[in-house]
Amino acid sequence: MAVRNGKKTFYEEAMETFHRAADLIRMHPRVRMELEEPDFEHIFYVTIDTRDRLVPLDDEEVKPFRALPPSDVKAGDALEPLADGKFVLHRRALLKADISIRQGVINIPGKGFFRIEKGGPRKFKAYRIQHNQVRGPYKGGIRYHKECSLDLFKTLAADMTWKTAISEVPFGGAKGGIRIDPFAFSKEEIEHVTLRYVYKLKNLMGPFIDIPAPDVGTNGEIMAYMMRQFTDGEREHHRMRGVVTGKDVRIGGSEGRIKATGQGVVYCIEEWARERKLDIKGARVLVQGFGNVGSATAEILAALGAKVVAVNDVNGTIHRDGGLDIPALVHHVHQNPQNLRRTVAGFPGGTAISKDDFWGIDADFLVPAALGEEIDGPVAERLKVKLVAEGANGPTTREGDRVLAARGIDVIPDIICNAGGVTVSYYEWLQNQRLEHWSEAEVNGRLEQTIKKNWAIVRDIARNRPQRTPLYDSRPYCVGQAVDVRTAAMILALKRIEAHYLLEGFSQ
Ligand code: NAD
Repeated sequence: MAVRNGKKTFYEEAMETFHRAADLIRMHPRVRMELEEPDFEHIFYVTIDTRDRLVPLDDEEVKPFRALPPSDVKAGDALEPLADGKFVLHRRALLKADISIRQGVINIPGKGFFRIEKGGPRKFKAYRIQHNQVRGPYKGGIRYHKECSLDLFKTLAADMTWKTAISEVPFGGAKGGIRIDPFAFSKEEIEHVTLRYVYKLKNLMGPFIDIPAPDVGTNGEIMAYMMRQFTDGEREHHRMRGVVTGKDVRIGGSEGRIKATGQGVVYCIEEWARERKLDIKGARVLVQGFGNVGSATAEILAALGAKVVAVNDVNGTIHRDGGLDIPALVHHVHQNPQNLRRTVAGFPGGTAISKDDFWGIDADFLVPAALGEEIDGPVAERLKVKLVAEGANGPTTREGDRVLAARGIDVIPDIICNAGGVTVSYYEWLQNQRLEHWSEAEVNGRLEQTIKKNWAIVRDIARNRPQRTPLYDSRPYCVGQAVDVRTAAMILALKRIEAHYLLEGFSQ
């Protein structure tokens, strides 16, 4: 396995918690061996035909073409803007158009001078890592991102195995996706790459085999493409809706799924705050990442009266000490078609600050909801918060963890903190199997009970406080000594997974 700059791989580093917890519960050696590597690592390629593009010229390149007559493109929507400044040139742009092209350059009034770049076939590396299925079908998100690797997907797939066990949903763990920058391709190209991905994966997935869901760079629209491709031509396609979760509610998705991960983060924060007699109302919050998880968490916390004072994303950071107007920010990022990068940058209701300054803002809670390894040692040294609630997967490095512990900053670890998404995915899958539709109140009621109950067990394991209450029994999980919360969460997962191997035995 590749070693990153002399450091351990993501996977090796993430598995340190696994091994620590496995030692503490004296895990059966064969079970440990089953869990320490994924069941299957599927790596493959998908190809698509891409459309021609208009590539903007810089000032120097424009000079020889200043006299080029403007072209009149009537079907304006046939030039699809991309976040990288290019336009996808759909063929209908030529209908009734009055066009002048010189040496492949075109002048479009209001848009600028462009070089026409020929499209053609493109190849992308794709992954699906199926980590473990002893508790149920493989389950986990699909990520479209320009930086992804086998090492990353192995780590995220294993995280899903732990997460599904902690939230007591009858699934295993998987993760996958495509190495692609989704902001650099048209809607149609993203649809095609998705269809091709499912085409190649078709006999490895299914409602009882492997069930994808959205993750970074994917959403309900992409889940709809996946469902359609998987069920294409099947007479009983309505029985197969559970092949993916995170669908639009109008086509078999669950109420509450879009916000479920953020809602789960908030239930965890509420429990943490209740124990310390802190009020969410008026609490100061930092959020990193304003996609699905970050924006839902911010919205729910703001509705409870918290002040989200700063938000950082890949393109910028905004700050308002009195609290940002979160509904307005959601509108700016997610409902404004001009905001092609779906970024908080440029939000008029806040001041732009640097990412470095973001980490140093005084607040009660930090919710990392972007990518992994953001909170390393130096960042952890700078934080002035009481709690890090991990909405993202793997946002804190081992060094970051050590610094947070030494500084007395609490952590709610990812494998419980962001488990709300997969929990409601299970409710979606159940509703699909039963052809039912539950209300949002029912979904959230069940989610709250599951998250709060399992978080209470994790806390009991951490403090070595075995007890039986009317709601739960932590006695089978405590290990006779206090442990850090991340290890405690892993102990809960491993005990539940190990029970399957020990009680069912191994098929030979
Ligand atoms: P998303 O694609 O909707 O949003 C990602 C956000 O992260 C964007 O705002 C982006 O600008 C920001 N970002 C990316 N790189 C960044 C960087 N270097 N610095 C700062 N910000 C950066 O993704 P999402 O679905 O909200 O997922 C976010 C995290 O939550 C991921 O770690 C994902 O694995 C985890 N997660 C998601 C779900 C879910 O249901 N979607 C469930 C559990 C965990």
